[in-house]
Amino acid sequence: MSETTGKKKVSLTMWIFGALVLGVIVGLLMQGNAEIAENYIKPFGTIFLNLIKMVVVPVVLLSIMQGIISLQDVRKVGSIGVKTIVFYLCTTAFAVTLGLIFANLLNVGAGFNLGTEELVYEAAEAPSFMDTLVNIFPSNAIQPLASATMLQVIVIALFFGFGIIVAGEKGKIAKDVVDSFSEVSFKVMGMIIKLSPIGVFALITPVVAANGPSVLLPLLKVIGVAYLVYIIHMVVVYSTSVKGISGMSPLKFFKGMSPAMIFAFSSASSVGALPFNLECTQKLGAKKEVASFVLPLGATINMDGTAIYQGVCAIFIAQIFGFNLTIPQQLTIILTATLASIGTAGVPGSGMIMLAMVLESVGLPLEGIALVAGIDRILDMGRTCVNITGDAACTICVDAMEKKKEARRGR
Ligand code: ASP
Repeated sequence: MSETTGKKKVSLTMWIFGALVLGVIVGLLMQGNAEIAENYIKPFGTIFLNLIKMVVVPVVLLSIMQGIISLQDVRKVGSIGVKTIVFYLCTTAFAVTLGLIFANLLNVGAGFNLGTEELVYEAAEAPSFMDTLVNIFPSNAIQPLASATMLQVIVIALFFGFGIIVAGEKGKIAKDVVDSFSEVSFKVMGMIIKLSPIGVFALITPVVAANGPSVLLPLLKVIGVAYLVYIIHMVVVYSTSVKGISGMSPLKFFKGMSPAMIFAFSSASSVGALPFNLECTQKLGAKKEVASFVLPLGATINMDGTAIYQGVCAIFIAQIFGFNLTIPQQLTIILTATLASIGTAGVPGSGMIMLAMVLESVGLPLEGIALVAGIDRILDMGRTCVNITGDAACTICVDAMEKKKEARRGR
């Protein structure tokens, strides 16, 4: 990405926003003809989503392998890996807690009551921790790639990445192949992202045509609360960690990150924003080897914005359906939302799919998802922006810690 793309980035963002506005207008005009929108416009949105799903596995697999290979030393990967995972888990658990606190305090679902008379729910059982753990490790190296089971894809990338380092000279060809295909995958991703205006238009129009503005307006409060927590989390957690650990001024950090943040906001895809994030963090001084390991991993497993969104939506859905969540239930939400956000792929809309896991864990009605689905894109833009900013904050912090360690060793 050269300087010249600065201009292109803005114009793609404008195109996407234009497409969003146009989609709403056309959707409103087509309210009586929702079926036409569903049958003839939505398929183009589905094509766009399919393309993103197609490219996400190669991008994650190859970029994580490339990141590991570039560290060249298994011990170094371990040291960076542990710091990264601790940072990711702590910030995500904090994020969902913050989401729950604000959603409760501000009564995000107050004022609307759908009643529960005609709905019968059975408290679903959450998958056990041991099951979740076992399921991370694939018994087959191809199948997870075919079914896009992201955590398993990461495990494959880790093992094969390490394998290439350990194989030394004999692994050279594999390394070159990974480098080359990784570059190719990013280029393909770039092409698909260019189609986002068409995708956005084709996805928003049928939603508005089917539901009309009435379904969007009462949800303004959810949007307001989610965005408030997104901003608080970014300002409080990322500013203090970046300042406290690396000494970088928060202003410099957010300014340097703004191209990647704008892109994440408009594309709603952490993976799509990965190339921008790699460039921004390196411009802020992070080493390439750290960034190319921490960021692809983060784009896959670290989703603070998604965790906030899941916390806020869980409370919203509980309140409008008249459920009172107990403290243990809210603690369950913290745990499942942290796990669910890890399992969320960095593509548009996937956080909403994982919301089902959170709702099920405390027996909330899955029908609630249909309510927030109409505004998911708006929530998704903000949460993706938080997601990738969290990855970048971690990169800056881990990079600073590694540099300090090296300096100490030097002495
Ligand atoms: N779109 C988000 C991302 O790419 C994931 C989500 O839907 O929450 O980070």
